[in-house]
Amino acid sequence: MKRAIVMGGSYGGLFAARVASDHAEDVVVVDPDAVGEDGLGRRVPQRHQLHALLSTGHTQLERWFPGISEELVEDGALLGEGDDVQFYLDGRRKAPAAGARMLGATRPFLENHLRRRVAALENVRFVRAQATGLVVRDGRAAGVTTAACGDEAGETFDADLVVDAMGRNSPLEQWLVRNGWDAAPVDSMRIDLGYATAAFRRGNELGSTVVAHSSPGPASDYQPKVTEPGALVAVEGGRWSVVLAGYADYRPGPDREEFLRRMRRCVDAIRTVADHCDMIGDVRTYRFVESRRRLHSRLNRFPGGLVVVGDALASVNPIYGQGLTLAALAANSLGAYLRTDPDPRRPAWHYFRLVEAVVDGAWQLSTAADLAQPHVTGPYPRGYRAQKWVADRLTEASVRDSAVNTRYMQVVNMELPPKALADPRLLSRAVRVLLGR
Ligand SMILES: Cc1cc2nc3c(=O)[nH]c(=O)nc-3n(C[C@H](O)[C@H](O)[C@H](O)COP(=O)(O)OP(=O)(O)OC[C@H]3O[C@@H](n4cnc5c(N)ncnc54)[C@H](O)[C@@H]3O)c2cc1C
Repeated sequence: MKRAIVMGGSYGGLFAARVASDHAEDVVVVDPDAVGEDGLGRRVPQRHQLHALLSTGHTQLERWFPGISEELVEDGALLGEGDDVQFYLDGRRKAPAAGARMLGATRPFLENHLRRRVAALENVRFVRAQATGLVVRDGRAAGVTTAACGDEAGETFDADLVVDAMGRNSPLEQWLVRNGWDAAPVDSMRIDLGYATAAFRRGNELGSTVVAHSSPGPASDYQPKVTEPGALVAVEGGRWSVVLAGYADYRPGPDREEFLRRMRRCVDAIRTVADHCDMIGDVRTYRFVESRRRLHSRLNRFPGGLVVVGDALASVNPIYGQGLTLAALAANSLGAYLRTDPDPRRPAWHYFRLVEAVVDGAWQLSTAADLAQPHVTGPYPRGYRAQKWVADRLTEASVRDSAVNTRYMQVVNMELPPKALADPRLLSRAVRVLLGR
């Protein structure tokens, strides 16, 4: 290809640009915000929230940016392994999962490193501008119009490939509908989640702990709820990043004292940080109303040479930490598609089928868990009650048994699809564990 244009230069756009750089002479990343070194664009307010990277997301990061973990750690990020990574369910420490590993870094820190790597690619350039429309010619996306931003003037770019990485509120659908195309069907689930993140000065109060993550039990028939859900991660700059989350009326607010009170009702590690460490700056909140995904493969027609990645494609409940990993996996699907040397005049159905299979796994996992919330009203998939009954037992068994938890975490980390939890050997092991044999 002569040119690929990536609209949006945040996490999804950076991965797409890296992949496209293997196939296009010139890759242009257009973004009004995510170009500067600080990476704290107005349009990505969730950047201030704690971001955890699933192991699959980490693997993809290394795949496309070899050596970046080492670089991140050299610059101050932490890499937690084994006992440094602790998961709790209703206050009970879960059995160790083999291969547990997690990076401790803030999102801006991670993204700035990524951006530096992408900017160093010879055939990639960043343009500080806002994409304002799609040029569609002969049924294919032939370019992008942009508006001036800062000192740079707006212009129109011709392209062989256009990537929408403009996030959850991408205007692409409106542009397409305005030009006589159909909007992609949407799946959505209202979850009404509230998030709050605060930073604390980190000393030696928790030894080598890098991650402590506590989630509520699926049902309280095993043990009453004793702790609040929450997570802390050791990040660069000698800080802890602590996140609390709650649904509907129980969303955490920005009040510092209230945040500390809630932290003191969490597992020991989080309580210790509340008691011994100084909070730095303010509590930042974020409200996430619904999970949403677009299903382009169900359309009958779509412009050729146009693909959608990241949150513009699917944006799911952040509690499960899937977003960054999904953005990286979309780039993988894009790479697989581009390696087939596709005709830009034809819609990228092959890409959409590949990426939707990946999104499907993440969607199944997150929405199944969300449906257990009393205020979430559906839609319920067929067989939901039976699936939930089995999932609840598996979750309980994962607290008590390493082998069950290892498989469970492989699915949570998107290394295996959700159907891996239906393996009869795993289920029979879970039954034996629950019966105490
Ligand atoms: C509260 C919260 C917590 C989260 N925690 C996690 C987590 O722990 N782990 C995880 O993996 N994921 C997490 N996520 C999800 C993660 O933030 C997203 O999946 C991720 O940001 C998606 O990246 P993206 O590049 O697709 O979109 P975004 O990051 O939203 O970026 C979109 C980009 O498009 C640009 N843009 C917008 N309009 C235009 C335009 N007209 N022209 C050009 N550019 C434009 C914006 O400036 C921005 O840079 C969380 C999300 C939320 C809301």
